[in-house]
Amino acid sequence: MQILRTVEELRAWSRARRCDGGQGIALVPTMGALHEGHASLIRAAVEARPGRVAVSIFVNPTQFGPNEDFAKYPRTFKADCELAEREGATVIFAPSVEEMYPAGAATFIEVEGLSDRLDGKSRPGHFRGVATVVAKLLNAAEADLAFFGQKDAAQVAVLRRMVADLRLGTKTVVCPIVREVDGLALSSRNVYLSAEERKQALALSRAIRRVESLVAGGERLSIRLMEAARDVLAEEPALRMDYIELVDWETLWPVLIAAPGSLFAVAAWVGNTRLIDNTILQ
Ligand code: AMP
Repeated sequence: MQILRTVEELRAWSRARRCDGGQGIALVPTMGALHEGHASLIRAAVEARPGRVAVSIFVNPTQFGPNEDFAKYPRTFKADCELAEREGATVIFAPSVEEMYPAGAATFIEVEGLSDRLDGKSRPGHFRGVATVVAKLLNAAEADLAFFGQKDAAQVAVLRRMVADLRLGTKTVVCPIVREVDGLALSSRNVYLSAEERKQALALSRAIRRVESLVAGGERLSIRLMEAARDVLAEEPALRMDYIELVDWETLWPVLIAAPGSLFAVAAWVGNTRLIDNTILQ
């Protein structure tokens, strides 16, 4: 497995793959600190494009707010390379900040109407940073497939809109949320949790399961589903709710009645760590 550091190297690698067999490459964008959730994306990419999978590892400064965890975000490059190789990735793309944002960089992507919803509302500027870096990565990789996790469901909506609007020609593939056996959604940020916080964090997946079971029982009213989720989160008084939302997964606008495909999402602070979870309703 090769490690590429520049956009030029990534583009050359991608073009060479296309020439040798006609098929494009698959890209798995990540910020590193890889876990089983990322591994599931890499496996899906390898299955779709064996021998043509690039995993990008880049902690993107523009998607972090001034008081967020950019500086302390876990960086585990060696272990990440081992995991990616084990899962069958072909190359790692690990650029420097200067490579992705050349001196004087002044171009940013704003997905209007979506980028200030859900996590974008709580984290102003977050989706502007995400959309900008993913556009740069897709453009550099000339990827025809890109793999994302449903874990970041609002991000998926923003990126699908961006890919469609910019006519990037990349097909986005969304993979299911990978969880610990007790339900906690895997996240690179879980390493921040103390043992006590780890227990409190389970309220998020419990709230999601509660909503799923209510919907399975026929409940469709947003107000009832949100109330049920709020009650579950309230079982952990130390946990601070950020948002509970039932939205259309394409527009991220609230819906009053859950329909198949609606997104139910929660975000909460456990100590200093902000966690998210969601479900796409049946
Ligand atoms: P990140 O490194 O956190 O930016 O995540 C990179 C990609 O992995 C994103 O598309 C995430 O949605 C996805 N991802 C993160 N956690 C999970 C998980 N628990 N299950 C599935 N995909 C995930």
